[in-house]
Amino acid sequence: MAGVVDVITEIQLDSPTLAANRIVSAIVDALPSALPPRFEVIVDYKGMRRPPLQPMGKALDYWSIYEWQLQTYARLREVQPNARPVIAGALLFLNELSPTWADLSELRRETDKRRTDVTAEPGSSDAQAICTRKRADQAPPTLSFEFRLRRALRVIPVSKDSIAFAAESFDNVVLDIELARARERSSPHILTEWPNNPTDEATCVACDWKTICPAQDGQMPANVPAEA
Ligand code: SF4
Repeated sequence: MAGVVDVITEIQLDSPTLAANRIVSAIVDALPSALPPRFEVIVDYKGMRRPPLQPMGKALDYWSIYEWQLQTYARLREVQPNARPVIAGALLFLNELSPTWADLSELRRETDKRRTDVTAEPGSSDAQAICTRKRADQAPPTLSFEFRLRRALRVIPVSKDSIAFAAESFDNVVLDIELARARERSSPHILTEWPNNPTDEATCVACDWKTICPAQDGQMPANVPAEA
């Protein structure tokens, strides 16, 4: 298995030069209390908003999926020579730093249904901004930086148990992939042998297959049998 790590850095979390860094402070606040002398934290960023705790309808459970992904990164890191223990992972959901009208609407809905873990204080200016209804002639209201940062950052503890659980969950996903790959080998119709899942609009928008995906126009390409 091979992969690319974007950045590796080494810092002293209690260094005075980082005292004003609010991302570092937020990560430190979320770390477990008993820490080894030297350790690693994996940071991953996503070009999306913070996922809900439970998905709506048939949407994928990105809350769990990204947690498993981080735990898997931690496992891969720990088996490298001379690696230090990974004690946590931090996810940064970048869209939370500049929410759109659609993001505010989703947040309002998730707050009402108690599907998100970071909500605005009732009566606060952030809560009022989230309740603002869309005006086509106006930019969305600006939320406080503290609230946006809390929404953007999720720190996930890493332990042997959490890594083992994530590995088992990912095994099921890998099994689905291997089965589809095996079917594809014995069939000329790749589009029918791989399951599609159009429940997440943002993923479909970014997908290279969307122009030929049966789930997008509801039709099989002409060279694919309808019953396949
Ligand atoms: S466009 Fe089709 S293949 Fe691409 S993500 Fe959506 S459902 Fe999956």
